[in-house]
Parts: sequence; structure tokens; C-alpha cells
Amino acid sequence: MTVPAIILNNGVAMPALGFGVFQTPPAETRTAVAEALRVGYRHIDTAAAYGNERGVGEALAASGLARSDVFIETKIWINDYGYDETLHSFDKSAGKLGVEQIDLLILHQALPSAFERTLAAYRALETLLADGRVRAIGVSNFMPHHLEKFLPEIDIVPAVNQIEVHPYFQQRELQTLNEKHGILTQAWAPIGGITFYRPGFSRSTLEDPVILDIARIHGKSAAQVMIRWGVQEGRSVIPKSVRPERIAENFNVFDFELSADQLAAIDALDADQRGGPDPDLITLENFSRDIPEA
Ligand code: NDP
Repeated sequence: MTVPAIILNNGVAMPALGFGVFQTPPAETRTAVAEALRVGYRHIDTAAAYGNERGVGEALAASGLARSDVFIETKIWINDYGYDETLHSFDKSAGKLGVEQIDLLILHQALPSAFERTLAAYRALETLLADGRVRAIGVSNFMPHHLEKFLPEIDIVPAVNQIEVHPYFQQRELQTLNEKHGILTQAWAPIGGITFYRPGFSRSTLEDPVILDIARIHGKSAAQVMIRWGVQEGRSVIPKSVRPERIAENFNVFDFELSADQLAAIDALDADQRGGPDPDLITLENFSRDIPEA
């Protein structure tokens, strides 16, 4: 099965369905990513802050796949923002991943409390792009007011904005703004992971009766319906699992189609309920994390 590609705003092709590794323990990452590559995923999303880039690189090296067949995405953590710091952070990530070139490198957070440092970090991404060290650059967790302040200051429009999107938190205004600027919305927690691994949510998207009804009609699982919903609406989706049966299940979403009514029924589940931290509250003081050398 070949996953359909999304063409980014600079012409680079990226598989519409990728594989996430947030909270995948470093010791399990190599096995999980190896399984994902075996099943057919060709896009892996990691981050310097996840501490597991090395496992991703080991799985890639052991896979026997050509480097150009796998799309590798990673993120710069806030401690490494700043021009020189971000250039060096690329070296750290590329070293751990064991690659010369990273396909998509993004800023993990908007860090509004240090705007100049964030801008300098992005300028480093622009340099890495110009130098061919990365094939595309982008951002993550940028809300409308962050983008509106940021975009006039930069030269290269981000290829993606990776944000929390699942049926209970759809960020439609932000998705529309991304689209207006030619920025692809990439959905993190696309099956609502955050709704069931974070205490305090009243219910999990996996148990939602509307989603379960649609799943029953298609003979699919709730997770498969949510992934399909994201792909059909044109988002990049990057579900995570460490379990082989779920890694395969989440990939098996290209043999059915949701109707317009079914898409609309899932759209109507939006509860505007953010599961992740408010991006405005991420500061160097409360989210500091040193990123080790390669
Ligand atoms: P997901 O929506 O992908 O959900 C992951 C959770 O769902 C895990 O607990 C997993 O458990 C479980 N799960 C996976 N498949 C199934 C299934 N078929 N049925 C039931 N449960 C399932 O959430 P994530 O937060 O992991 O988001 C996906 C990716 O997005 C991350 O891995 C990361 O790459 C990225 N991300 C980025 C963020 C950012 O700030 N930019 C923030 C958060 C995530 P198990 O592993 O045990 O199967």
C-alpha cells in the first residue's frame, strides 16, 4: 500500500499518513519504528525533546530502505532557540538520526515570551533550507496570534504548522488561517490520544458514540475512522502506537471512504477542549529541557 502524498508549499512530497513517537520510550523506539516501516509507513515524526531520535535513526538504518524512501521530521526544542543554537541543534538531531539531511525540521513551540529568539531560530531553519540540510521547514503549536506576528517577519512561509487536532479540539479558525497562507495543518493527537492519556477529560474520542456508529458502518475501528477523517479533510496525520497490532490498524485506512455526512458528523463533535498545554504558557522557565549532544 502506498500512502497518498501531500505536496508541501515548496513542492516537496510528504506522505499524508505518518508515524508519531511522542512518549515512546527511547528503549522501545527502534522496535516501534522498525515495525512501522515494515508495515509501510514512510514518514516518522519525532522531536529533539522526545529523547528518542537515536532509536528512529537505528530503525531507519536497519530497515534496508533507501534514505530517500523515508520522510523524517523532527523538532527543535525551545532551549535550542536562537540562530547559532538552532544551527547546532540541527547537527545534534541529524547526528542522532544518523542522516545528512532532515526532510522536515520545525520549531516545536511558538515561545511568545522570547519572540526574538524564536525568530532567530526560524532564520536558522531558513539557512538550513537554503544550504540543503533540510528539505522543508515549519512550526508547531503556533496559534493565530502567533502566526500573525511571526509571518510578516520571515522570508519563507512555514510548510506545516503541527497542532493539536482531533474530533474534540479542531481549531478551525487556525486551520483556515494555515490554509490561507499555504501552510499545511499537521494534526498531532489525531486519534485524540491526549483525551485518554491525560486525566481530567470526561471521555475518550475512542468511546464517542458518533464515531463508533460510523466505525460500525464501515467495519473499522474508531481510531481508523479518525485517521481517515483527517486524511480526507486534507490534513497530515501522525498517529502513535508502540503496539504492532495498532501500528498496522492505524495504517489500514485506505480501503474505505467517509461520506460527506459522516465527515460533517465528526466535525460537529468539536468541543473546543484543548488537551495539550496552552502554547502561550510554554516558557523557558517552566518547560526547560536540555537537549544532549549527538
Ligand atoms: P495519538 O492521537 O496518536 O494517540 C496515541 C495514543 O493512542 C497512545 O496512547 C497509543 O497507545 C494509543 N493508540 C494508538 N493507536 C490506537 C488504536 N488503534 N486503538 C486504541 N488506542 C490506540 O496521540 P499522540 O499524542 O501520540 O500524537 C501523535 C503524534 O503527534 C505524537 O506521537 C508526536 O509525534 C506528535 N505530537 C506532537 C506534539 C507537539 O507539540 N508538536 C504534541 C503531541 C504529539 P499505544 O502506544 O499503547 O498503542
